[in-house]
Amino acid sequence: MRTKARNKVERIPKRGHYDAPTIHGILDSACIAHVSFADAGGQPFVIPMLYAREGECLYLHGSIASRLMKTVGSGIAACACVTLVDGLVLARSHFHHSMNYRSVVVFGTAEPVTDASEKAAILARFVDAILPGRAAEARAADRNELKATSLLRFHIEQASAKIRSGGPKDDPADATLPIWSGVVPIAQRHAEPIAAEDATPGVPVPASVLRLLD
Ligand SMILES: Cc1cc2nc3c(=O)[nH]c(=O)nc-3n(C[C@H](O)[C@H](O)[C@H](O)COP(=O)(O)OP(=O)(O)OC[C@H]3O[C@@H](n4cnc5c(N)ncnc54)[C@H](O)[C@@H]3O)c2cc1C
Repeated sequence: MRTKARNKVERIPKRGHYDAPTIHGILDSACIAHVSFADAGGQPFVIPMLYAREGECLYLHGSIASRLMKTVGSGIAACACVTLVDGLVLARSHFHHSMNYRSVVVFGTAEPVTDASEKAAILARFVDAILPGRAAEARAADRNELKATSLLRFHIEQASAKIRSGGPKDDPADATLPIWSGVVPIAQRHAEPIAAEDATPGVPVPASVLRLLD
């Protein structure tokens, strides 16, 4: 049986962080979590999902038919990982090639949110988590849409962040090799918006989207 804390970073522990500002900062800078769980037969799954964070909870939403929503919503132990990639780390040796990244692993259990008005309010926050200000611009979920949507509140019981930054860590013996080494930063950006093929004529690009492009 594993006696170590399940969220203790063992490999390169100086890259591990456990404080809420670091963990929340990474969670709030991303929007996709890879959620892992095992079904009743022990089959493991990893499923990428959008999420929204509020306090020490992640909200996950999906079809009421979704295996993840049903299985994780039953309260079994689950785990999720969020990753931001910041750069390619190119070393002189194959061995020391790496990535700069910020990642978070969370452990916990989830429960369904069933109250219709609470569900509608959280789903609106969910939309804002993806694009701030968007919920107020779009139509809220109606009764049928709420019924067709399962919403889970995942309580974060334990979490870890792991951060790699900086240049390659080449071996001193390789220092004079005539091989370029360094970092290629990776930046995500939003490109020019593309209106839907059936976009309502005459409706301008909304403020939420324009703010993205500033
Ligand atoms: C984009 C990216 C690419 C990576 N590529 C590789 C690769 O190719 N090969 C490789 O060996 N490693 C890679 N890593 C590092 C990898 O995530 C693990 O940290 C490492 O492999 C150690 O695994 P372990 O099972 O020994 O972790 P342990 O340190 O034993 O894990 C114990 C606990 O530490 C925490 N933890 C571990 N890793 C992370 C993490 N990344 N973020 C947050 N918490 C963490 C978890 O809570 C985990 O339960 C990569 C990480 C990222 C983000």
